Amino acid sequence: MNSSVLCSNVQVSSDAFIALGSNQGDRELNLLQAIGELGKLPRSRITLLSGFYDTEPVGGVVQESFLNAVLRMETGLSPQELLTELQRIETGIFRRKRELRWGPRSMDLDLLFYGDLILEGESLTLPHPRLHQRRFVLEPLAEIAPEFIHPVLGSTVISLLRALPPAERVTRI
Ligand code: AMP
Repeated sequence: MNSSVLCSNVQVSSDAFIALGSNQGDRELNLLQAIGELGKLPRSRITLLSGFYDTEPVGGVVQESFLNAVLRMETGLSPQELLTELQRIETGIFRRKRELRWGPRSMDLDLLFYGDLILEGESLTLPHPRLHQRRFVLEPLAEIAPEFIHPVLGSTVISLLRALPPAERVTRI
């Protein structure tokens, strides 16, 4: 895990990767607003941001295309605290309700990696269980962290991307 110890009050920080996606309303403004909210989280700072990608929806629900991005954040929040903050932004800021699975949403925030932590909890699985199957996650992730190693699969992000079968369209805007 990429962690650092700061001063004597022992603050440990970790690199977390977060995926953002929107396909309702002004998608670009939604992403920018979510990035602003993530940037305001306590004991956290954004250290890398991918470009924005226009992506075809997956999962079979007929809906508008998504705009996706990935960012890296250095954070002193625990994984569960960070997930709670992501859900607060989804529901509190974007008024997102827990609706149709794979359906349209003004903001979807997923925790992809938290350092090299492996976790299978009731509300949180790390790494995110489907990230390695999703081109709309791997393309922006490979832009900012191509050599990051998936702690369960033992492969770099770029090799996971190259191993994907050609499927849904993903275009950097
Ligand atoms: P979604 O509808 O895709 O936003 O899924 C949200 C649900 O997935 C919530 O109930 C979360 O508790 C759960 N979940 C499990 N692992 C993760 C993760 N790594 N990142 C985000 N949500 C997660």
